[in-house]
Amino acid sequence: MMKNNIKPSDKEYVASTYGRFDLEIVSGKGSYVYDEKGKEYIDMATGIAVNTFGLCDEEWINAVNEQLTRFQHVSNLYYSEPCVRLAELLAKRTGCKKTFFSNSGAEANECAIKTARKWALENKGEGYYNIITLKNSFHGRTVTTLAATGQDVFHTTFNPFTEGFLYAEANRLDTVEALVKEYKCGAVMMELVQGEGGVLALDKDFVDGVFALCKENNMLLVIDEVQTGNGRTGSLYAFQQYGICPDIVTTAKGLGGGLPIGATMFFERTENTLTAGTHGSTFGGNPVSCAGAVNIIERIDDAVLKGVKERSEYIVNELTGADGIKSVSGLGLMLGIETERDAGEIIKECMDRGVLPIKAKNKVRLLPALNIPMDTLKKAISVIKAVAKGE
Ligand SMILES: *Cc1c(COP(=O)(O)O)cnc(C)c1O
Repeated sequence: MMKNNIKPSDKEYVASTYGRFDLEIVSGKGSYVYDEKGKEYIDMATGIAVNTFGLCDEEWINAVNEQLTRFQHVSNLYYSEPCVRLAELLAKRTGCKKTFFSNSGAEANECAIKTARKWALENKGEGYYNIITLKNSFHGRTVTTLAATGQDVFHTTFNPFTEGFLYAEANRLDTVEALVKEYKCGAVMMELVQGEGGVLALDKDFVDGVFALCKENNMLLVIDEVQTGNGRTGSLYAFQQYGICPDIVTTAKGLGGGLPIGATMFFERTENTLTAGTHGSTFGGNPVSCAGAVNIIERIDDAVLKGVKERSEYIVNELTGADGIKSVSGLGLMLGIETERDAGEIIKECMDRGVLPIKAKNKVRLLPALNIPMDTLKKAISVIKAVAKGE
């Protein structure tokens, strides 16, 4: 079959916000994707931690199809089952009380920020709108979530940004304490493994310290699990292995298994903060996305999480100290590899050899499917190893 070359039309008609690789993906199955020429690639990025169980996973397709043929959407003015089932499942698996559904990570964080401000106003008084985030963090692309993102490169061009964000240093509790002393603060918001910032896991001591500090100062702790959530780091949510109890947890990416969905989970202190009319979303809680998400969350059981840890250990053991590799960071199947050669070049050569990792800052980032078969993973890692070595 002759295929049209879509690349010139993409350049002509699609907004030029993405620097695309010279690769069109036309189909996929499990941890493999195929380009228009039929070349096979091992997918080591899953659409940035989205395709939790790989591409075109049968069970997930069945769950989604079943809902799709029932009805595709109803307004939030009415009850519908999939979003209730998902909220109940999340409550049982995380200890959260209530969930607000949206369509993306940025929206999930936007909702968390609104909630933190309303909570602070009602529980602390006027002026406690400040939220402390961490340098090198990433929280989204809206004007407010860009402001929350603690990276100067994101704080240009689109001024004025939303006020009320203060930036502390990751793993430096004294810098958080200093801000709490100097300003009226209502919350701390952070990722437990900074993803876009270079796949850096926060120290347990630091996280414990922030948790205690929030408690002492009657502040909320908001954990952004947009990327770390949904089994990615070896527990359903990363906060569960850090052993802390946050007040709000946001997630998106892998939750829907490939369909757009965002979730803002409220724990005890925040479960009744948002009231009727204070927040909403037309597509939020979409039944098809929620049916997909129910399937994903139900399947992330102990066996899957054990598999994530085993695969993670395999990758870390293979790559740590290997020729051309400076360091391996991250948690579970969210890993960053610092290479001696430029990460961009490594990624390009991996692509030529049929392996698709992505970048995070100066690192090669790996986010494979939670169930990537071991032999497929071994193949991909051997290619990455050879490329890093310069073979
Ligand atoms: C990707 C990401 C976001 C933004 O999610 P979108 O769905 O692209 O809006 C927010 N926070 C973190 C930690 C992320 O990794």
